Parts: sequence; C-alpha cells; structure tokens
Amino acid sequence: MVNKPLVLVEVRNGTIREVSFEALAFANQLMKQGGEVTAALLGSDVSGLSKELFEHGATKVVHVSHPHLKEYTTDAYRQALLQIIEVEKPCTVIMGHTALGKDLSPRVAMKLGAGLISDITSFEQDEQQTLFIRPIYSGKAFEKKSVSTMPSFLTIRPNNFIKQHQPLKKNRCTNIVDLKVDIKELRTVVKETAEKMSGQVDLSAAKIVVAGGRGVKSVEGFAPLKELATLLGGAVGASRAACDAGYCDYGLQIGQTGKIVTPTIYFAVGISGAIQHLAGMSQSKTIVAINKDPDAPIFEIADYGIVGDLFEVVPLLTKAFKEILT
Ligand code: FAD
Repeated sequence: MVNKPLVLVEVRNGTIREVSFEALAFANQLMKQGGEVTAALLGSDVSGLSKELFEHGATKVVHVSHPHLKEYTTDAYRQALLQIIEVEKPCTVIMGHTALGKDLSPRVAMKLGAGLISDITSFEQDEQQTLFIRPIYSGKAFEKKSVSTMPSFLTIRPNNFIKQHQPLKKNRCTNIVDLKVDIKELRTVVKETAEKMSGQVDLSAAKIVVAGGRGVKSVEGFAPLKELATLLGGAVGASRAACDAGYCDYGLQIGQTGKIVTPTIYFAVGISGAIQHLAGMSQSKTIVAINKDPDAPIFEIADYGIVGDLFEVVPLLTKAFKEILT
C-alpha cells in the first residue's frame, strides 16, 4: 500500500522540471487512501521553490541545502538521498526517467537492496497490488511489474502523467523541513556547465517535436525544420542516421540510444521508422510522418502520413501554420 511516497525533485537553472510535477501527480494517484507526499528539494539555495511543489500536490517539502548539491553529481546526490531516506522512511521513492533519474535510482536502490521499476508509463491498481506498466523491446511490447521491497524505487517517463495544479489556499498549513546532510569528499566535481543548444526548447519536455532523418540530407536541410519547430514553440530532434552524418548534434538524437520523447505532436521528417528510432518516440500522442517513400515503415505507426518531398512539404506546412497562427 502506497501511503508515504517521496518524490525527488529535479531543478535545472533554478526552475523545477515539469517531470517533477508529473511525479507528484503520479504519487498522489498511487495513494488510494490518503497519506503524505513528500518532495525532496536538493540544491544550494532552493527554499524559494517550495510553494510550487505544494501547489502541485506535495504535502511536505524536505529542503536539503548544501554547496555540493548546487550541480548534480552522482556522488553527492547519492549520499544526500540515502540520508533523506533514512530520516523520512518513505515507502516509495519516485523520480523522472531522465538522465538524473536513470543515473541515481539504480545506485541508491542497489545500496539499499531495494527493487526498482523504471520508465513507467501507467499503472493498474486493485486491493491487493499495484502493477506498473512499462514498455519493453523498444516499445514493441509492454510488461506489468510489481515491487514489494520497502522502500521501492520508481522512475516515470516524462510527459505521461498529467501534472495537477491547485493554487495554495491562504490558511493551508505547509510542512517544510530543513534537513542537514553530511556529504563526504566527492570523487567528481562539476567545474563548468556548457549549454549546447541555448535557446532551444528542452527536447525531452517539448510538447511539439520536429525530427529530421537522413532524408534531410545536410545541416542546411534542417533549417526548414527549425523554422517549423520555432513557429510552433517546439524542439528539433533527429534520427541517429542524421546525427551520424553530422547534420546535427548527438544531443538531439531520439531513440533507443538517444532521448525518449512523448510530445503531443511528433513530426517525423525524412525518417524511415527503424525500430531503434521508434523506441524513442512511439508513445507520442500524435505522429505526423513526411516521407517520399509510401512504403516507409514510419507510416505504420503514423496518425497522419504525407507522401512527398520534405523540402516541399515542410515549407508548405510552415506557411499554413503561419496563416492560422497570425
Ligand atoms: P534512413 O533509414 O536512411 O531513412 C531515411 C528516410 O528518408 C527514408 O525513408 C527515405 O524515403 C526518406 N527520404 C529521403 N529523402 C527524402 C525527401 N526528400 N523527402 C521525404 N523523405 C525523404 N536510430 C535512431 O534514430 N535512434 C537511435 O537511438 C538508434 N539507436 C540504435 C541502436 C542500435 C544498437 C542500432 C543497431 C541502431 C540504432 N539506430 C538508431 C539506427 C537505426 O537502426 C536506423 O539506422 C536509423 O534510425 C535510420 O535513420 P533514418 O530513418 O533517418 O534514415
């Protein structure tokens, strides 16, 4: 029975990541008969962010401030999270299935001998048990799993659970605890962080993704895709073939060995639809495929298919959207 989940909150550039709000909504859905949802907020000065967590379903916020927690390092976060778990004794620890969650959750779970279910997209619950559903075989199938250790660890796929926001009522009491943690000498220290794609919408969290493949043919070929993405407030992504060919940065790669995205609309432009690519985008709400080959496998999973030359179709789409939006 889930009655005391703890959500590890991710903060980037002083802002709480959307997936943490989704994790709070997920935690609340899991607790059938009430309980306490604790949000663990780690950083060097994060106290100003608590209000948003209460507004998104936390009933308690644990502040953990330490200079070593300013930037994420496995070493520092692992030590801090173990101490939070020792004090808070949650039944379940929930994180986003993000680079941070994928790195941290197995390390802490292993240290505690606890079970971990990763990349959860939904769950089923009855009186006896909760079954967590996650894609396997690159999204070709789904498995249902339960976990019985205390605590257990869960990571949720971003963009799958809908965040819940309720403005804080004036008299609602908010339980904030400051927890001191002892972080021993670190083996790794972050000296500098370089933003590769400054100004670009975060691909993993984007609601609209315009992804290009080998069919885009060059760096310059991505320009119309960028124009469409910018117009729609979305992000540009790519297949591995496009990254391998040097048309764009590997940070944009979507798929089994790249990022997993679940936007509302995914434009697959000049992408054939290899299983390794589908692994990263098949859970998108609506898929629009643009390909000159009517037999391209991407059309099998597309909701809308446009057979044609992408260099003609994409500018036409941009023009049409411009007319609608302006
Ligand atoms: P292609 O398969 O070459 O397809 C190009 C498409 O563009 C074709 O369908 C063609 O008809 C179309 N096209 C060409 N010109 C035009 C035009 N003018 N207008 C419209 N359409 C046009 N791939 C990933 O994407 N992500 C991964 O994470 C990933 N991980 C992998 C991991 C492993 C272990 C392995 C073995 C492979 C992985 N791959 C991954 C590679 C994957 O198998 C495919 O090779 C890759 O996805 C193909 O990319 P693509 O669709 O862009 O290229």
